Amino acid sequence: MDLIYNSVGIEVTRRCNQQCHNYCMRGARQNLDISFEYIDLLLDLGRNHYQYIDHLTFSGGEPTLNAEAILYTVDKIISEKLPVFYLSLMTNGLIYSDMLVEAFEKFNDYYNSVIVPIKLVKYPSKDRERAKTLFKDKGSSIVFSNDQYHQPISDEVLNLYYRNGQHISFGMTGLRAEKDLLRSGFSTKGREICGDDIRIFGDLVWDLVYLTAKGNFSSYGDGSFDFLDETSKDFSVVDYTLNDFCIEKLSLVSKPSHPVLKNCVQKKIKKLV
Ligand code: SF4
Repeated sequence: MDLIYNSVGIEVTRRCNQQCHNYCMRGARQNLDISFEYIDLLLDLGRNHYQYIDHLTFSGGEPTLNAEAILYTVDKIISEKLPVFYLSLMTNGLIYSDMLVEAFEKFNDYYNSVIVPIKLVKYPSKDRERAKTLFKDKGSSIVFSNDQYHQPISDEVLNLYYRNGQHISFGMTGLRAEKDLLRSGFSTKGREICGDDIRIFGDLVWDLVYLTAKGNFSSYGDGSFDFLDETSKDFSVVDYTLNDFCIEKLSLVSKPSHPVLKNCVQKKIKKLV
């Protein structure tokens, strides 16, 4: 059963160059980078049988501190022609990484030459030229955390990204209201984390599937490292495929159309009764 994954996250590192006390939902930083073997297992098409991953995001810690893992992921996607449609990450904007720009620029070339033609198939031929222009260079984005909780972003760093990453989209978080914070890790304000079900509508896995730096699957992308570890400890990527994990976490409110998924919902209901 080949599923479409709306959103997949990879926690490439738990290192960070800041300490946002009173705010950081991760809690204390850790000296831990993801192993490339976990990235291989996550993206292996023969093992996971995905139709495509619509959005792959790199998370941390501060993800630019492990640009090697990001470049490794991009090289894997390109060399194996994997159906990954979009890449993004959020950074505190204090580090300029040439390797990250190289990775995202490389991915953009791949996106323009391999992914855009796949996307265009859905369009009637008369609309394809216009759609192609709209899709061009929309393969990756970097968002800078310029909210009131982080140290101010370095102008020098920003300028380097803008100058060298001309095919990358850039954005800013802007100021964040207190209700947008998460009460976890160092943060004592904001909303609680809730719900660990994965909803699947038709063939589409709607919720984020997150791979921690320890190589475990989580249906949460947010929360402290301790919380992620506790809730993901039984779901190692070594033992679970993407598909197996989603079925394990399948939500009863989703409406899967595939008979196998319908069966899973029914089994889950029986277990609860
Ligand atoms: S909020 Fe982000 S930048 Fe700040 S300490 Fe946490 S991971 Fe690092």
